[in-house]
Parts: sequence; C-alpha cells; structure tokens
Amino acid sequence: MKLLTLTVGTLSTNCYILVDDVAAECAVIDAGDQGKRIAEELARRNLVPKYVLSTHGHADHTGGVLAVVSLSGGQFGIGAADRDMALAPPEWLTAILPGFQAPPQPSLLLNGGEVLHVGNTVIEAIATPGHTPGSMSYKVGDEVFSGDTLFRGNIGRYDLPGGDGGQELASIRGKLLTLDDAVRVHPGHGPSTTIGHERRSNPYLQG
Ligand SMILES: [Zn+2]
Repeated sequence: MKLLTLTVGTLSTNCYILVDDVAAECAVIDAGDQGKRIAEELARRNLVPKYVLSTHGHADHTGGVLAVVSLSGGQFGIGAADRDMALAPPEWLTAILPGFQAPPQPSLLLNGGEVLHVGNTVIEAIATPGHTPGSMSYKVGDEVFSGDTLFRGNIGRYDLPGGDGGQELASIRGKLLTLDDAVRVHPGHGPSTTIGHERRSNPYLQG
C-alpha cells in the first residue's frame, strides 16, 4: 500500500489516499473538504476509490465526500453512531467551513471489527469512541488512521456535543496503545507519529 496525503479545507484536515500495490483501486480516508480537488488527484493517477471512509461525523471530515463519491465513485462508510451527525451537521461547525456540502447517505455503517479489502490492502475498522460516539480508527498493516482521537502530542477534544473524555482515553489505551510501538499513526490533523512515541511522550497518556 502506498500512502498519499492531501491537506484540505479551512481546518487543514488530512485526507489520506491508500493506493493498493496491485489493483488500480484505492480507499480515501477523510475527504474532509475540497472533494473536487481530491477527485482530480484520483483521476490524474487513474485511481478509482472502492471506499470513501470518514473517521467520524464532524463536517471537516465529511465535507468532500459527496463530490468524491459523485465524481470518482466509492462506497461512503462511517461509524454507525455518527451517521446522523454527518448527515445533519451542527451549524457551529459548518459556519466556519465555506461551501460545505453534506455527505450522501452512507452505504456502509461501521461498528468496529469490519475488515475491508481493496486489492491486497486490508483495512480493519476499530471503534474508538470518545471524540464522537461513532469515531473509528482504520488500521492497515503497520499504519493506523486515528482521526481526531489521537494526535502527535495531543488527544482529540471531548468537550464538543457527543464527546466523552473518559471514553476517549479508554479507546486510546484499550484500542490504540495496545498496538506495537512501531505502528505509524496518521491523525486527522497535523503530523504523523508512532504508537511508541505517543506512549512515551504524549502528555495526556502518562501515568
Ligand atoms: Zn472532529
């Protein structure tokens, strides 16, 4: 699997394109904004998305999904518990995202434990609730896409509607820190890191 990263929108969301090594297929994670730009990038590389996944229902992680799915194809997948939030996003968030487009009805509602195949690439959905009730992380080999649950040196906000700090920490400790130190972590915003680095130095995960 080859990984492409585009940073999109006002809130600089990381949009990841997971390109399979054998099939001309890919998966898109967090088409958060600028869906047309993402679709153009896919077309330029002759890639067809099989899945267009969001890590959670916040508008800065779903705002480009409609354009990508309409222009390039793919099944939109999201955590089941974030479906309603994704389809009817709160105004406090869309107000700061000019040109926001609500995503289409998801064709894939995830609860964690699902295994998706894109050519030889295997994507495992891991439920990591807390930032939102339906937050999902996606693990592909030694890479994990952590959305707004775990960042380099930080953890996601849990003071927004639907957020739960205790649940978020339990998700990070129980589902992410249980992975090997060498696993690379690709968050929804900001630079990538590793599980080992966060285990040792993330101030929110000490003690
Ligand atoms: Zn978020």
